[in-house]
Amino acid sequence: MVILMLRFYNTMTRKKEVFEPIEEGKVRLYSCGLTVYDYAHIGNLRAYVFVDLLRRWLEYQGFNVKHVMNITDVDDKTIRGMQKESISLKQYTQRYIDAFFEDLQVLNIKKAKIVPKATEHIDEMVRLVETLMEKGYGYRGEDGSIYYAISRFKNYGKLSKMKLKKLKAGARVKVDEYGKEQASDFTLWKAWDPDDDNVFWETKLGKGRPGWHIECSAMSMKYLGETLDIHTGGVDNIFPHHENEIAQSEAATGKKFVNYWLHNEHLLIKGERMGKSLRNFYTLRDLLRMGHNPFAVRYFLLSTHYRKQFSFTLESLEAAKNTLQRLYDFMERLEEVERREGGKEIKELTEKARKDFENVMDYDLDISKALATVFNLVKEVNILIDQGRIDRAGAEQARNLMIDFDKVLGIFGDFWKRKEEKLPKEVEELIRKREEARKAKDWKTADTIRDKLRMMGIILVDTPEGVKWKKERSND
Ligand SMILES: [Zn+2]
Repeated sequence: MVILMLRFYNTMTRKKEVFEPIEEGKVRLYSCGLTVYDYAHIGNLRAYVFVDLLRRWLEYQGFNVKHVMNITDVDDKTIRGMQKESISLKQYTQRYIDAFFEDLQVLNIKKAKIVPKATEHIDEMVRLVETLMEKGYGYRGEDGSIYYAISRFKNYGKLSKMKLKKLKAGARVKVDEYGKEQASDFTLWKAWDPDDDNVFWETKLGKGRPGWHIECSAMSMKYLGETLDIHTGGVDNIFPHHENEIAQSEAATGKKFVNYWLHNEHLLIKGERMGKSLRNFYTLRDLLRMGHNPFAVRYFLLSTHYRKQFSFTLESLEAAKNTLQRLYDFMERLEEVERREGGKEIKELTEKARKDFENVMDYDLDISKALATVFNLVKEVNILIDQGRIDRAGAEQARNLMIDFDKVLGIFGDFWKRKEEKLPKEVEELIRKREEARKAKDWKTADTIRDKLRMMGIILVDTPEGVKWKKERSND
């Protein structure tokens, strides 16, 4: 099954290309995961909301997506962080790994099928470095570390479109992160030095640890094979990280490493890139503590095209919340339609909306147009409801379409399931008793019942229209 209309902007060619998977119906997708040296800020999380949208869209189109996202749990930054707190690397990184997965779950981001940790794949990295040495791309420097000779790889710079003449043969860089102007031989394996403390592995390559770039080459190829369909990351990964991944993987296998490179842009704050080093960031935790709704955060991060920069402000987050509320109100309104007879317009409207949504999403995930389609549908159907031109079956049709859209958008949570679920008799009875207690101003009993319900996973919300309930989100 080749969907001829599905296109992605490929950073390698700087063009929108028709997507053709290596294997029919399957997608091998690799995403650079977080370097776990701190909590993710929402600029980092934008990358994962983008990957989630990409994956959900591929799945909506019927692909079986094998998604791998690594965790970088050993590199310069994690070692520095561990030293500052005088704890083990594992203790230090585990805190941020747990927090990261919590953040992903709160943002309704589907977990990758495989989440390899760098520290658990040292053998694969060592083998890859050995291959590169055998083939003449890796060499040992005087400091005992092993470097990649970029002058040996004739297409070095093809992803970032670097001018080759700027490359200084033989110049070396030992840190994991560096700029284009510093392009030089980079470390595959770092020989142990006192700065690394107790972080080292005794391997055939000597006592030391892997460089950051070899980690992703080794883990992606282990789980997805020598050629991947799609590799994602932030634009800041293009150089040096992804350039170096290509150099390592293609030199080792002699095959093309990745068919489609997809990169998301930065989230800005006050005109600058949101980043740890600039200290101008919000974590998801910060926003939740301020009382913001996680689905509003997701909607905010999702609603601008992934290749566009955009700015974070608290006002825009508030606006995202109000936009979501319009969708929730619409879903509730659809539930209330009870007419037995209605016009034929709804069928036409929903069919057109579905087609429009699919067409624009197929065109490099054009989310702005996709959302415009959704809101246009909401507007048109609201008019039908106002004018009594929609029946129960029609409302059901609109509702089902919205639920299909939400398989891609992931912004409703379990909101739309609420009315379908019947409460067990005893729960209903408890809610009724609590209402009685409240009417009698017996707050103690009312609170005891509320606590009891909470233990059963039912949360009560007192609203001006009376008490409403919802089920606690399960942690699956
Ligand atoms: Zn990576």
